[in-house]
This record gives sequence, C-alpha cells and structure tokens, in this order.
Amino acid sequence: PATSLQDIIAHAKEYGFVFPSSEIYDGLQAVYDYGQNGVELKNNLKTVWWKAMTQVNDNVVGIDAAIFMHPLTWKASGHVDSFNDPMIDNKDSKKRYRADQLLEGKAEQYEKAGDEARGQALRDELGRLQGAEDMEGLRNLIISEGIVCPISGTANWTEVRQFNLMFSTQVGSVAEDASLIYLRPETAQGIFVNFLNVQKTGRMKIPFGIAQIGKAFRNEIVARQFTFRMREFEQMEMQYFVRPGTEMEWYERWRDTRLNFHKAVGLPAEKLKFHIHEKLAHYANAAVDIEYEFPFGFREIEGIHSRTDFDLKSHQELSRKKMQYFDPEINQNYIPYVVETSVGADRLFLAVFCNAYTEEVVGEGDAQKTRTYLKLHPALAPVKAAVFPLVRKDGLPEKAQQIVKQLRSEFRVIYEERDAIGKRYTRQDLIGTPFCIAVDYQTLEDDTVTIRYRDTTEQVRVPISELKQRIGYDVST
Ligand code: ATP
Repeated sequence: PATSLQDIIAHAKEYGFVFPSSEIYDGLQAVYDYGQNGVELKNNLKTVWWKAMTQVNDNVVGIDAAIFMHPLTWKASGHVDSFNDPMIDNKDSKKRYRADQLLEGKAEQYEKAGDEARGQALRDELGRLQGAEDMEGLRNLIISEGIVCPISGTANWTEVRQFNLMFSTQVGSVAEDASLIYLRPETAQGIFVNFLNVQKTGRMKIPFGIAQIGKAFRNEIVARQFTFRMREFEQMEMQYFVRPGTEMEWYERWRDTRLNFHKAVGLPAEKLKFHIHEKLAHYANAAVDIEYEFPFGFREIEGIHSRTDFDLKSHQELSRKKMQYFDPEINQNYIPYVVETSVGADRLFLAVFCNAYTEEVVGEGDAQKTRTYLKLHPALAPVKAAVFPLVRKDGLPEKAQQIVKQLRSEFRVIYEERDAIGKRYTRQDLIGTPFCIAVDYQTLEDDTVTIRYRDTTEQVRVPISELKQRIGYDVST
C-alpha cells in the first residue's frame, strides 16, 4: 500500500523527528518542533546545501542577516502592498479558507474524476481572477461551483478579502513611540540590502552570489499538510547578481544545478519535475518551481526566479542609496539583475523524509512481517553508525566503546547494548542509521567486526581499521 501522510506524521513523531509545537497545550497550528533525530537530519541537509553553495562555487559567499529589518524594506520589496492571500469565511462554521485553495481543490476533483478539461478551465478562470485581483469574481466562482465548507457543509460564504501574510510586532516600549515592525516573510531582503557591503568588503566581481539560511514567517491559512506549509519555517536562499541581459543564461544554469542537488540528496528523478510559471510575480521575468511528488501530490519544494533589478532598484529609490555596481570589464555602472534559488529547509526535509520511509514485506508464510526503515542517504542520517557488543560481558562492551571513541570525532556514532541484537538493528532501521557495527568474540582475536547494511540487511566482516573509510559518505553536488 502507498504511504500516506498519516504514516509519515506518526513515524516522525514516534521516532523523535518532528513534534507538534507546544503539544501539551494541544499544539499550535502550522508550527512544529524538531526532535533529537529531526534536528540532526535537518542540520545535515542545511550543511549539504551550504557546501553546495559556498564551497563548491568560487563566487558564492554566505551571510546571516537579522530577522528584523527596517520597516521600509517591506515597502520596497512590495510585501506591504501585495503579499496577500484572498480569504473567505464560512458564516456557519466560522472557518477561514484561502479562496484560491478552495477553487484549486475543486479543479483537482474534476481532474481526478477524469474531467481534465473542466479542471483546466477552472484553473484558467482562477488565474484570470487572481491576476485581475477580482475578489467578487472569486466569491461568485466559489458559489457557482457549489463549493461547501467541509466542516459545516454549507455554502454560506462571506465576501473575499485580501489578507496580508506578514506578522507584525512592536519595537520599543509602548510608552515611547513604539513602531510597527515585521517578522521577515523571506530571507532574500537581508541579502539585497547587504549587496554592496558584501560586494565591497569581499571585492566580489559580477557574477557572484550571496547565500543565507534563516527563519521566515508567514501567517498562512493552512491546509493540513504537516510541515509543508508552516507559519514559522526556514529558507535556504541564494541570490546571484549578474550583468543585465545575461540573466536567462544564469537562470537556466541554476535551474539545472538545483535539480541535480535534489537528486544528489536522494530524491528520485521520477518524483521531481519542473513547473514553469506562466503568471509571474511583480518582480520576476521568469520563474520555475522544482516540484516533488509528496503523498498528497506534486508540490513546490524550491523556486528559481529571475528577479530582474526589481529589488535593488526599489531599495535604491526608497533608501536613496546607490545600489550600483561598476563593471570593469565593460566600463559601466549598473544595477545588477538577480537570479534567485529559494528552497524551504522544512519542505526539503519533508520530501527527503517521505522518500526515505520504506515498508517492505520480509520472510515467508507465518514468519512474514513488515520491515519499516528510513532509506536516508548516509550523509544525511541522524546517526551514521551504531556500535553493538554482542553480549554485555567478557570485554565486548569495552571494545565496542573503544570503536565509538575512534569514530566519534568524525561521525555521529552511538553505542547501544540494551536488548537482543535483532531488536537493536530494528531500532536503528527506524531512524535510518545506515551502518550497524557488531563486536563479537572474534573481534577480540583478530580486530574485525561485522557491518550490517541497513538497506540490504547484508552483513560483512571487516577490519576495524577500515571502518572510517567504509562509513564515510559525502553528498557530491
Ligand atoms: P507556496 O506557493 O507553496 O506558498 P511560495 O511560492 O510562496 O510557496 P516562495 O515565496 O517562492 O514560496 O518561497 C520559497 C520556498 O520557501 C518554497 O519553495 C518553500 O520551499 C519555502 N516555503 C515558502 N512558504 C513556506 C511555508 N509556509 N512553510 C514551509 N516552507 C515554505
């Protein structure tokens, strides 16, 4: 049977990957905490991304900008005026929905029932109304399509309103003149406002990139899709500054580079695809999403956008500071164009986790059972290797501990002596540990151990001196 999102959520919780936030108070919608194994997997993904940006390229450097920024930043970026979702409320259930999501859901229903044409027609109409920001038109379409609230079952809808997705708070005490400030809805702006600081202090020559990993916040109205759409999440973004007129070439190059990255972390080619945007955001002249096939369908994990000079130009206008670069090769000043790659760390985590979750029927007849394990790339697994003494006596524990000590400066390795060895293997399978190293009586004689491979359950006897080389894996991007 196909894996459901429910299986994923249950496994993530049960084995210390993802917990609902403030669970003892019944949780907080669309906010999640990473547990002891989840944080390792997420950190590994971030490290692989960071290296793929700042280590593999000569001309990409990183920064870490603050979450709070001057309020004019969000005026310049367009977020104050147009970072909105169209919302509609059901008067009976008092539940709030995104108007576009209700209509997309209906289009999906048509398509699932085999009526592709009707689904497509609905999507086209939705696109047209959104483009025209026609709120009344959206409401009329919801009503004429007979869409009802899943909770109340009625079509008693309010008007459609634009709802800004930014969270705001105050800086300064209330007594003084406190001012309104936003939690950043994307990390990109921290890079744009620092573009010249980095260019000058790093003596960077165009084309060059600035990469960043950091939290972003959006007051999303959420469909229940676990960590796919969160209110607090992490982005991994890279803005690549190029000479105007060369942006399409870089856009295509980064699009392909980023697709290869997702394959390198283990996502299979057939579960990845490009989705080219026809309707472009106000800042872009080309945009493509990389989509992954989640248990709930193909959805965006990363966006690659050609953002023109939109952001730098509007920061120049509002700040009255020059955002220009002098290009010595053509002897000209210009505002660079930007190609951006933007991936959610949490969405990538979810994609990798869904992809790793494996259920296999093993054994025959009465002995048949389901084996569940996480087929994570060894470089991403929370625990790289677990070391087991076969029995808890005769010096085997001490020998096993010695091996842990040898490996632990390079890899995350754990020691485990509780329960029968079969159970220990199973526990490691469930968190995706790629290698289990068993110490037995023969180890004491000839310094060899067995390595048991997670995916095949095959066991191989190897000298202790070869362990480092056998378990050391990198993601090559
Ligand atoms: P969507 O259409 O799904 O709302 P978006 O097009 O608004 O996404 P971008 O603004 O392009 O997304 O953000 C870039 C990336 O940041 C996305 O590809 C996604 O991986 C991640 N991201 C955006 N919003 C969220 C969120 N609410 N929760 C988790 N990740 C997110």
